[in-house]
Amino acid sequence: MTSVPEITTYLDDLLGTAKVPDYAGAMNGLQLANSGVLTRVAACVDFSSRAVMRAVEEKADFLMVHHGMFWGGTKPITGAAYRRLRMLLDNDIAVYASHLPLDRHPIFGNNVLLCRELGLTPSGEFARYKDIAIGVSGESDVATADILAKARRFARVHGGDAISTFANEARRTRKWAICTGAGASAETLQEAAMSGIDTLIVGEGPHWTAVEANELDIAIIYAGHYATETLGVFAVAEHLSQRFSIDWIPIHAPTGL
Ligand SMILES: [Zn+2]
Repeated sequence: MTSVPEITTYLDDLLGTAKVPDYAGAMNGLQLANSGVLTRVAACVDFSSRAVMRAVEEKADFLMVHHGMFWGGTKPITGAAYRRLRMLLDNDIAVYASHLPLDRHPIFGNNVLLCRELGLTPSGEFARYKDIAIGVSGESDVATADILAKARRFARVHGGDAISTFANEARRTRKWAICTGAGASAETLQEAAMSGIDTLIVGEGPHWTAVEANELDIAIIYAGHYATETLGVFAVAEHLSQRFSIDWIPIHAPTGL
């Protein structure tokens, strides 16, 4: 029988939690303790009232999320925040969050797992952030429309859709890069242009990134922030389930984005 402290130590080590820099508010690691008991893991992309209610219904005592409890910064614990915390404490549910450590993990990372969904093989890094790389890149010779079709099928399973900036069916992808979540930014576009990337696959990005991509002759496929980040958290929960012989359930809470 395992416990929350044991799983926490295991996850911190597996994901390199202490070594990976992150945005303020990500607060990777155990965010809320419980009495220590661990019988069932629930996994969800976003910490939310929906996620907490489902975890309670499913009698989970360890909620693993990608975007954690403090994502929106410091706020008073009132209203929905109070109700969520109260439900967690009343039901003895611990919360563990992993953002960039989970995005970039070589086995359970959102980025490598999205490659697999799209039939691409990573051979390099992408999306540098401080002293790490969050995303992956590689070479191929496939129709960009084929990647888009695969991204579309994948996104639709998770209640979203994939859209792209290109319209030319004959276009080929020879050098691609992936950065899940909010992966289209000034930094990633600049990095893509500098490294000769012709296709950038992300979760989402602001409108101007599509305009800029056209200027740079880069195609961007936006496959959904939620969909592209379901992979890691579910893969890690599945791994915990096998490693520690514990039950787990995925909590699907699509945002439509
Ligand atoms: Zn994200």
